[in-house]
Amino acid sequence: MINKNYAKLEENYLFTEIARRTSEFIKANPEKPIIKLGIGDVTRPLAPMIADAVINAMEELKHAETFRGYGPELGYKFAREAVQRYYKNYNIDLDLDEITIGDGIGEDIANITDIFEKGTCTVLLPDPVYPLYKATSLMDGQKIIYLECNEANNFLPAPPDFPSDLIYLCSPNNPTGAALSRAQMQAWVDYANKHNAVILYDNAYERFITDADCPHSIFSIPEARTCAIEFNSLSKTAGFTCVRSGYTVVPKDLVRDGVSLLRLWQQRQTTKYNGAPYMTQRGLEAALSPEGLAEADKNIQYYKRNVKLITDVLEAKGIFYTGGHNSPYIWLKCPNGMTSWEFFDYLLNNVYVVGTPGVGFGEYGEGYFRLTTFNTYENTAEAMRRINELL
Ligand SMILES: *Cc1c(COP(=O)(O)O)cnc(C)c1O
Repeated sequence: MINKNYAKLEENYLFTEIARRTSEFIKANPEKPIIKLGIGDVTRPLAPMIADAVINAMEELKHAETFRGYGPELGYKFAREAVQRYYKNYNIDLDLDEITIGDGIGEDIANITDIFEKGTCTVLLPDPVYPLYKATSLMDGQKIIYLECNEANNFLPAPPDFPSDLIYLCSPNNPTGAALSRAQMQAWVDYANKHNAVILYDNAYERFITDADCPHSIFSIPEARTCAIEFNSLSKTAGFTCVRSGYTVVPKDLVRDGVSLLRLWQQRQTTKYNGAPYMTQRGLEAALSPEGLAEADKNIQYYKRNVKLITDVLEAKGIFYTGGHNSPYIWLKCPNGMTSWEFFDYLLNNVYVVGTPGVGFGEYGEGYFRLTTFNTYENTAEAMRRINELL
């Protein structure tokens, strides 16, 4: 018998459709200079000291004296200590055991679902949001309740007045760029503790936060230790989308049905996973060192320069937008009541700029559009010059 839940998955319509319409346009208009502001991936090169840490680790394996075999499934001590020190910067104390190292959090967010019963959990899903949470919940046959993110709630829905089992929170959010304040985070933690729910907290954009009121970890809220799991990636932070490294924090105080969720996660990982590569864990250690953070943050500052180029035009045109301050994404309302795909075609056909239709991130994304700051300063400036003239 196959897992029939897979039939509920949508095809990866969004990005294949963007690619199809873009390449069709290029074929018909080969001379038109296209600029892509739809990129959801980093583009700046690795900081040399971080790349060297990976290279040096590989070098060690060439010599008998420094060769290594299998590492610990849950991560080398040096890598877990690097994460522990990193959280210390935010005055958060973690036990080394609470930290597991992996190959990026796409995998961990998908794999953590193994420790929850399939087919019986009620999952709260903000909409629009990163599509992974919906896809894995569908695969597991969970019941999904969508929480509408809209202008009235600043794209940050508050906890509902009914119970649930699992809650996905992504802050700063992809695609909307909206980030939870301390009070909003506290409200979710209180809700989860009250209902014995578990928050799965995707912290991929933490380094982009600039507002002092937006915590850098859900564990800034002390009561989160009894209700939250946090996922943190180096992909957007240090440009590791290709290198692959990330970590997950499951607090010891998180217990359901008398069972430690950390214990279950450790059992899951030590059974189904043989550990992250030594080289990428050395890369993680370097990226989380004070020098590595300073180097990697230069790339984040580069992307942040593009924010103003985009938001200046939107503000001048009186177009509603959110995001940008705490994230590489700007989420805007399509002008003149256009749908997401209408606005996509309008920009592509008139100014040769490619963005991402908001409806691709969920039903409530209809009528919105995502622009990203991951292109070069020059290309972003040129794209916004064209959009400014068009609108
Ligand atoms: C990019 C991204 C991820 C994936 O992170 P990896 O560590 O590269 O697997 C997870 N969550 C969100 C919201 C992202 O945008």
